[in-house]
Amino acid sequence: TGPTIVAGEILVEIMASERGLGFLEPLALTGPYPSGAPAIFIDQVAKLGGGAGIIACVGRDDFGAINLERLRRDGVDVSAVSVSDRYPTGSAFVRYRPDGGRDFVYNIAESAAGRITLTDAARRLADGAGHLHVMGSALSIAGLKEIVAYALKSVRARGGSTSFDPNVRKELIDGADGAHFSALVDGADLLLPSGDELLAAAGVEDEGQAVAALIARGVGEVVLKRGAAGSTRFGADGSRTDCPGFLVEEVDPTGAGDCFGATYLTCRRLGIESGKALLYANAAGALNVTRLGPMEGLAGFDALDRFIAGTDRAGT
Ligand code: ADP
Repeated sequence: TGPTIVAGEILVEIMASERGLGFLEPLALTGPYPSGAPAIFIDQVAKLGGGAGIIACVGRDDFGAINLERLRRDGVDVSAVSVSDRYPTGSAFVRYRPDGGRDFVYNIAESAAGRITLTDAARRLADGAGHLHVMGSALSIAGLKEIVAYALKSVRARGGSTSFDPNVRKELIDGADGAHFSALVDGADLLLPSGDELLAAAGVEDEGQAVAALIARGVGEVVLKRGAAGSTRFGADGSRTDCPGFLVEEVDPTGAGDCFGATYLTCRRLGIESGKALLYANAAGALNVTRLGPMEGLAGFDALDRFIAGTDRAGT
C-alpha cells in the first residue's frame, strides 16, 4: 500500500502541426502540451485510480502551471513539486521529418528540472510511498540521482516495490553511472524495457538470455515493449506471454511507453492478473498514440474497456 511515486522532469511540448516539412520556413505549431516522461507516467497511474505522487521542480511560469493543473486535476499528489523563481520550466520542440522521423529541440538542461534537489517534501512523499517507478533520466541529473537513491532505500526498507524503465542511452549505462544503473535493475519487481534496452540492461546479445540473466539478478518480471507489434511478458517462473498490438493509426508516438508502463504497473498493483494487465497496457499505449500531445490520450478503465471492445489486434 501507499501511492506509486516517480521523480523527474516536467516540461511542455510544442510541436509542428504540419507534418513532413522542413524547418527553414516558419511552421504552424500546436501546444504547449504538458509532458515529461515521469509526468505522463504518473498521470496515467492516477487516471486508473491508483494512488500517485511526483517529485519534480518547475519554474514559476505558465508552462509549469499547465502541468501542475493537469496533474492535480487527475489526482496526482504534487506536494513534492518545488517551484523555482530562478529557472523556467523546460520545453521540447518537435517536428516531423518527411521520412516520418522526428527531430527534437530540448530546452531542459538549464531549466528548473535540471536543478531539482532532495527537499523535505520529497523525503516525506518517498517515506509514504508503496511503489517507486524509476526512468532513465534519473541517471543523468545529479539532484535526481540523490532523490532516487533516497526513495529506493526508503521504499525497499519498508517492503515496498520498485519498477524501472531503462530508457537510457547505452553510453550512459557504460559510463560512471553503471553502478547506479545496476542498483536499479537488481531486485526490481518489474522491468519495462524496449527491445534494445533489454539487451543493454542485461549486457548480452540474445533476448532469451537477457531475460534469464535479469531474472537471475532478482528481477520479478520483465515486460518488453515492441511498439506497434505489442508487448511480451516474461515471468520469473520462466513463463512467456505475447500480446499483439492494437491496429491504430499512429498520430503522435510520444508517451506510449510511459502510458503503457503505468497501466501495466497499476493493473498489477490493483490485483489484476498479468495477462489482463498486459492487454490493458497495450490498449493504453495504442490509444495514446492516436492523440496529438503526450498526455492527451491517457485513459481510465472505462475508456480502455471501450477501446478494447472496439479495436482489432494484429494477427487476431
Ligand atoms: P517506448 O516508447 O518506450 O519504446 P513503445 O513505442 O514500444 O514504447 O510503445 C509502448 C507500447 O504502446 C507498445 O508496447 C504497444 O503496446 C503500444 N504502442 C506503441 N505504438 C503503437 C502503435 N503504433 N500501434 C499500436 N500500439 C502501439
